[in-house]
Amino acid sequence: QKMRFESKLPNVGTTIFTVMSGLANQVGAINLSQGFPNFNPSARLQQLVTDHMAGGDNQYAPMPGLLSLREMIAAKIDSLYGVGINPDTEITVTAGGTQAIFCCIAAFVRPGDEVILLEPCYDSYRPSVETVGGIPVVHQLSAPHYQVDWNVLSKLITPRTRMLCINTPQNPTGTILRREDMAKIDAMLRGTDVLLMSDEVYEHLIYDGEKHASALCFPELYARTLAIYSFGKTYHNTGWKTGYCVAPPELTREFRKVHQFNVFSANHPMQAAFADFMADPSEYLGLPAFYQHKRDFFLQAMAHTRFKPLHCSGTYFQLFEYGHISNEPDLAFCKRLTTEFGVAAIPVSSFFSDGKDEKVIRLCFAKTDDLLERAGKALEKV
Ligand code: GLN
Repeated sequence: QKMRFESKLPNVGTTIFTVMSGLANQVGAINLSQGFPNFNPSARLQQLVTDHMAGGDNQYAPMPGLLSLREMIAAKIDSLYGVGINPDTEITVTAGGTQAIFCCIAAFVRPGDEVILLEPCYDSYRPSVETVGGIPVVHQLSAPHYQVDWNVLSKLITPRTRMLCINTPQNPTGTILRREDMAKIDAMLRGTDVLLMSDEVYEHLIYDGEKHASALCFPELYARTLAIYSFGKTYHNTGWKTGYCVAPPELTREFRKVHQFNVFSANHPMQAAFADFMADPSEYLGLPAFYQHKRDFFLQAMAHTRFKPLHCSGTYFQLFEYGHISNEPDLAFCKRLTTEFGVAAIPVSSFFSDGKDEKVIRLCFAKTDDLLERAGKALEKV
């Protein structure tokens, strides 16, 4: 008997990150597509995980996360953003940023509720909204500057709007929302019941002396915020799948109701190791300089190619325009770059729900200098 069912996500295929990494591996190309470092986390951090495993931290961590880790997170937030967050009632450790984003949406969005997205955005937002029956409402940004039109954005807010999703620094655009932008969001949402999902997983990957403007720094905005963070981006271990969500107690309570039946808790030895490792802030304080060097090194390596770089203020992604080189749709172009030139990239149309193709590709520069250099050389032939 053929089972009959209607797909909840009829337009969703396999995520572009899996597709492009798969193709890169298949043909042995340099993989600058999916965002992850090709170098290891600190040896000391790895040793701490090993020690905690040997010491017996191998069973379920507490559902909201190890309290020792949440205390370190609260201390970090206090030192960076000058705000007091209660580790017991406002922080939940998750199995990575993507799981935290899903739980935020699933905890608050009901069928028919509208969720505003600023596209191009990370490809999990829309399907997460659709899985729970929400309706994505898109404010489309355009290359090369991807500026928010505040007037247009504010008109998208209706009594049906449940949530606004922002990402700063933003994947894939490399743009940031500054203090004055966050202040506009704060003002725009006052007097509404709209929640803010503030995806801040690239909080430390911000360049040229800019400061990350966290939603946590705006007290009235924070009252409606769920802010998402990722250890994978901060400590070079995306495969450890650990992150956290910061939200006021009333919101955290609802968030945890979903989180506990989604993964129950995040992995234990990594949490214990992060708690120890966070005592020394030098690793994350050094990140802006570390990745700014990589961005500039990569731009240098690409200087003799025909690709036109867009400005990158944050994240570990650099965008390039190629419309003057080829008319091919960006997905076909990225596949050909991989198979013919040996460098895998992500087509930016994948981050638009209508597939808008502005002939822009995204390359990840969280890679060793020699790999970035080889990628630049290979792309000189294009
Ligand atoms: N956030 C990463 C990126 O944009 C990938 C995340 C993933 O593959 N799940 O490349």
